[in-house]
Amino acid sequence: MPDGTPPRPGDKALGNTHRTLRSAADLAAAGLLPEAARPAVEQVAARYSIAVTSAVRALIDPADPADPIARQYLPDAAELVTSPRELADPIADAPFTPVPGVVHRYPDRALLKPLLACPVYCRFCFRREVVGPEGGLLNDAELAAALDWFARTSQVREAILTGGDPLMLSPRRLAQIIGRLSAMPHIEIIRLHSRVPVADPGRITPALLAALETEKALFLCLHANHAREFAPPARAALRRLAMAGVPLLGQSVLLRGVNDSAEALEALFRAMLANRVKPYYLHQLDRAPGTARFEVPIEEGRELLRALRGRVTGLAWPTYVLDLPGGGGKAPLGPEMAVAEAGGWRVAPPLGGPDHLHAPPETA
Ligand SMILES: *Cc1c(COP(=O)(O)O)cnc(C)c1O
Ligand code: SF4
Repeated sequence: MPDGTPPRPGDKALGNTHRTLRSAADLAAAGLLPEAARPAVEQVAARYSIAVTSAVRALIDPADPADPIARQYLPDAAELVTSPRELADPIADAPFTPVPGVVHRYPDRALLKPLLACPVYCRFCFRREVVGPEGGLLNDAELAAALDWFARTSQVREAILTGGDPLMLSPRRLAQIIGRLSAMPHIEIIRLHSRVPVADPGRITPALLAALETEKALFLCLHANHAREFAPPARAALRRLAMAGVPLLGQSVLLRGVNDSAEALEALFRAMLANRVKPYYLHQLDRAPGTARFEVPIEEGRELLRALRGRVTGLAWPTYVLDLPGGGGKAPLGPEMAVAEAGGWRVAPPLGGPDHLHAPPETA
């Protein structure tokens, strides 16, 4: 189909290629799940949501058992094992929730989570215990209460729409939220975090672009982890967003078997830039239940970034961050670059030192 032509929900003429796969049976029928793996995946499905859109399915090579796209989205028996260091709410959103749907951890910005549905369900998601197609949509009263919180919390200058994925909202609902936030004099920035442009690019319709129109500064932060996610439909969707005047940022998670080589990271950041997406954060994996197979140690992450420095344009350089368990917020992880001993320059060690994850610093 031509770039980005939006499939309409319920349009039977589109047939099976536009159905989102949501169960072990769907995946098996699509040739993405061997019969032998099916019972375990059915158990996974009972606990965690599954969704593979037609756009994502088109990127998967079913003949490659190590396909980096499949690895992000196809459920695996390993998810049934929760290690003792994995937490249901790894970055501790819950204690920073003044009203349902709001997370306020930093003075000048707060999250608004109007829904918990996503276009796809990433197997490494740190909110995997709560995201899903069913729950989580704030009802009218809850949404009004969340927006009232923003209206009366005047130290907050930035509203960050996340979830779930805010671009899963109807354009009408999204326009309503952006309109309310835009009318608040203290709100200067509206930021949306989304995977939709790569995972379901057909949703970036003229109606959705119109919903993003505001006189306030609106940024979109795209979640993508592999260069191959920037296929022609995704590229067209990002172009539509850029043409609508939306500045684009990129956030990625460092993932074993997906982007854990200097070459894969270089290709990812170059693909972002070629699509006007400025790499913003590279996240260390949060330890959510059943995600251990994706973890890359911090030291290895630093090595990978060190290998890129100087070789690729500085525009490609994201900040490597860890969301500290327990709600400590995001801490930059480095890499520690050359300490220029000549000339007397010193580079401060990264926050907490290299081993702070394994041995928490003693409190004085
Ligand atoms: C990550 C996060 C933000 C955004 O942080 P930035 O460093 O500004 O991108 C805001 N609030 C919460 C609760 C967060 O977890
Ligand atoms: S799109 Fe984001 S919130 Fe949704 S499952 Fe993936 S990582 Fe989680």
